[in-house]
Amino acid sequence: MRASIPEQGRDRQRLLEEMDSFVAADADWRGGRVFSLVYHLGEEHEHFLARAHALYASANALNPMAFKSLRRMEVEVVSMAASLFHGPDETVGALTSGGTESLLVAVQTYRDKARVERPRVRRPEIIVPRTIHPAFDKAAHYFGVKLKKVEIRADLRADPQAVARAISGRTIAIAASAPQYPHGVVDPIAEIGVIAEREGLPLHVDACIGGFILPWLERLGRPIPPWDFRVNGVTSISADLHKYGYTGKGASVLLWRSMAFMRHQFFVASDWPGGIYVSPSMPGTRPGGPIAASWAALNAIGADGYLAAARASIEAVDRLRAGLATIPEVQVLGAPDSTIVAWGARDAKIDVYAVADRLEARGWSVDRQQRPPSVHLTVTANHAPVVERYLADLRAAIAEVQQDPTLEKSGSAPMYGMMAKIPLRGMVSASVRQVMESMYAPGKTDPSIEAPRSGGFVGRLVDRYGQQAADLYDRAQERWKRARSSPKQR
Ligand SMILES: *Cc1c(COP(=O)(O)O)cnc(C)c1O
Repeated sequence: MRASIPEQGRDRQRLLEEMDSFVAADADWRGGRVFSLVYHLGEEHEHFLARAHALYASANALNPMAFKSLRRMEVEVVSMAASLFHGPDETVGALTSGGTESLLVAVQTYRDKARVERPRVRRPEIIVPRTIHPAFDKAAHYFGVKLKKVEIRADLRADPQAVARAISGRTIAIAASAPQYPHGVVDPIAEIGVIAEREGLPLHVDACIGGFILPWLERLGRPIPPWDFRVNGVTSISADLHKYGYTGKGASVLLWRSMAFMRHQFFVASDWPGGIYVSPSMPGTRPGGPIAASWAALNAIGADGYLAAARASIEAVDRLRAGLATIPEVQVLGAPDSTIVAWGARDAKIDVYAVADRLEARGWSVDRQQRPPSVHLTVTANHAPVVERYLADLRAAIAEVQQDPTLEKSGSAPMYGMMAKIPLRGMVSASVRQVMESMYAPGKTDPSIEAPRSGGFVGRLVDRYGQQAADLYDRAQERWKRARSSPKQR
């Protein structure tokens, strides 16, 4: 049904009560049941952030002359991040609305810098490992840059040799992650930095998830591979305040080694009757709330608070990894470079997606991955109390799937299995687009993902053939791989 604005405004107190009941129906992130979507540092901090945000909820950082305090807070946050990442005195940067905006702006800036300095490059390319965050695909799509994705090594880290081989006259930048999101391993930034310097190319480090945790892990004595401005080749870093900065949503920082890069970030429209219009990043109106909350969080938590949170997180990770190692059906993927844990099936002993369904039935919000099928956990201080319960539920979920093989063919497991396996990725995209269209249909308020099972190519295949179709695709893919790897006959 279509809603319309109520003829008479409703009672504010009643509305807040109604919204409290909405919140209660969402995933239980306060109780540590959600991984990676929310970073929670307790109720007291949550209220503090809300107050800091509220003070600036209507303020607009688009005009720093009118909101001098916002400009000051932005400068201080950028400066604190520059110190934390060992940036030179020349380091500059800006706050954005999140990791995606930081990466969009980074790609746009490198493209525009190349347009000025290397105008003969008509089809610019950026080289990335295939584990780079999809915000890069989005940026490439929006800004007409080609992403050249290169293979990763067996340890799931980017392969510097593959990066070096991919460089051509069209290359305008290289990017890698610290750590990459799927498995939490830090790419060999130092080695890639040497290549970037040798080739005279800029290097962006996507530390969206790692920026505000790796420095503390390093101080705790954990072996963290070098990734920040101490690596000479690194020219820019993105780091999300709204992840391990524990600042509330809507804040990330994009840092540049110097203004020589950042000057290509600014946008100016000089002919508009509304006046000369300048903006540093993607939005026009820039919400003041996230800037204020970021400044407040960094100051309130302090190095001691971040260290304590990092210690609680990494100790939870240690317990989680140790517990997972005792479960014969699962295998932890990747080295312990960070507070991200990913597990998959050991020797195909279980259907990961069926186990994921059973975990979800036990109240966990599950982050399913593909290639290989795995489950992702971004572990925070808030997860320390739930590690043992998670491990117990995982063991129980595995037992359920082992006792009842039909579970692999029911629930969402076959759909995820198919989606992961189909070699024709265009079909997967088309089918997911159908899900989006149904989710955004007029007036639809229930975001269920059952839609593709009754329609769309993948859904029909799953409905009709279940696991059989998945196996068929497996075999087809094997043949396809063999055909490609055998020497060409002429
Ligand atoms: C979260 C994340 C992003 C994107 O950030 P958003 O805030 O979700 O837009 C980019 N890269 C990595 C490695 C991330 O973890």
